[in-house]
Amino acid sequence: MEKVIIVGGGPAGLFCAFKLLERGYSVELYEQTTAVGKKFLVAGNGGLNLTHSEDLEPFSKRYGQCSRLFYELLQEFGPKDLRSFFSELGVETFVGTSGRVFPKNIKASEILKRWVDKLKADKNFKLFARHSLIEIREEQLIFKSKGELIEVPFEKAILGLGGASWKRTGSDGKWKQLLEKLGVEIKEFLPMNCGFETKWSTFFIESVDRAPLKNVGISFQNHRLRGELMLTPFGLEGGGIYAISNFIREEILLNGSAEIHLDLKPDLDLDEVKKRLIKRGKKTSMSNHLRKSLGISKNHNILLKELVAKEDYNNPEQLALNIKSLKVVLQTTRPIEEAISTSGGVALSEVNANFQLKKLPGVYVIGEMLDFEAPTGGYLLQASFSTAWRALGSFKKGF
Ligand SMILES: Cc1cc2nc3c(=O)[nH]c(=O)nc-3n(C[C@H](O)[C@H](O)[C@H](O)COP(=O)(O)OP(=O)(O)OC[C@H]3O[C@@H](n4cnc5c(N)ncnc54)[C@H](O)[C@@H]3O)c2cc1C
Repeated sequence: MEKVIIVGGGPAGLFCAFKLLERGYSVELYEQTTAVGKKFLVAGNGGLNLTHSEDLEPFSKRYGQCSRLFYELLQEFGPKDLRSFFSELGVETFVGTSGRVFPKNIKASEILKRWVDKLKADKNFKLFARHSLIEIREEQLIFKSKGELIEVPFEKAILGLGGASWKRTGSDGKWKQLLEKLGVEIKEFLPMNCGFETKWSTFFIESVDRAPLKNVGISFQNHRLRGELMLTPFGLEGGGIYAISNFIREEILLNGSAEIHLDLKPDLDLDEVKKRLIKRGKKTSMSNHLRKSLGISKNHNILLKELVAKEDYNNPEQLALNIKSLKVVLQTTRPIEEAISTSGGVALSEVNANFQLKKLPGVYVIGEMLDFEAPTGGYLLQASFSTAWRALGSFKKGF
């Protein structure tokens, strides 16, 4: 029986283990933390979004420069296949109103338990936790475990070592040096799906702390979307900004800051906002009038006061313009550690069509450790599965 070594117990590695056992291989899975799937569990805290239901064409566009590659990958293993895989684990899924796909009535921890239980029930599966890959030699992987060096011979190994955010989940990106030493080009890790910092006044920080801004329009260069933002003491975060965080990040890297514009009333046009603002009773304060005429909440109002000059705040025409297009200058990204995912990783020019490293035949790289980026919305997990599936194409039958 042929043996495959998998390193990294994230969704990509666990999926490979499952499929390889099905195909009759024996599998040894090495994971550097105490348990597998820690980032998957973290993803579960925020409503585990497994994939998206949209058509493959728009779906693949979410991968930006890699959209052509992902169009192919999704045809081979797309959202429907991913949902079928979860149903093999006894996990039903459903499409939410946003088109996102979620597990039905089951927590991430229970899904992971079922997944791992199935693996462990197979006598051809062995799990080695607390084993950190520190070196790859010809036909040998070197792990460090409890201070000891362990040499593991291999013919075929699959690495699913993840990106470089949320280090406490084990995805520490330290593998970068290990592969670079072997001449493999690794693109710099950068935060993706991340928050941004801006300079709020002390008054703003003290009065708002953290507060959601629901249903806002967000524009940056030619990108326009609608979503939810979170005001935080350091700046902004939330789904609304994550989706375009790579473009904002690039602008900051290039020019030192990035200007985004918020539309606080995306369902009303500018004329309507102006019309409502002009009809203010003499004794009504602007804050009250904003609340009554436009439903501007306390937090929206504090944001307006923070960013709009006093004379413009009291001028209905100017205030309307600001409500429809409120400029926020973002100075920097939040630290990579906090980002939901990272851009960068193994350069795609370093792998062949099956994600086998050209410089290290027999070694495959899959999942977030590859150099691609995508917004949240299920696109990240889908990518882990789809890249893993492509690599599995090299493992037909292990008998
Ligand atoms: C807060 C948060 C919410 C998220 N929500 C979603 C969501 O709703 N939908 C979605 O699609 N995606 C989501 N993601 C992203 C998603 O979880 C990741 O993209 C996905 O887990 C990547 O899978 P992976 O298998 O490639 O890597 P990972 O899950 O990062 O797993 C890599 C594994 O490799 C191990 N490892 C690393 N280096 C070594 C080494 N040297 N030796 C041995 N083992 C090693 C790590 O310990 C880890 O267990 C979220 C992420 C975060 C942080």
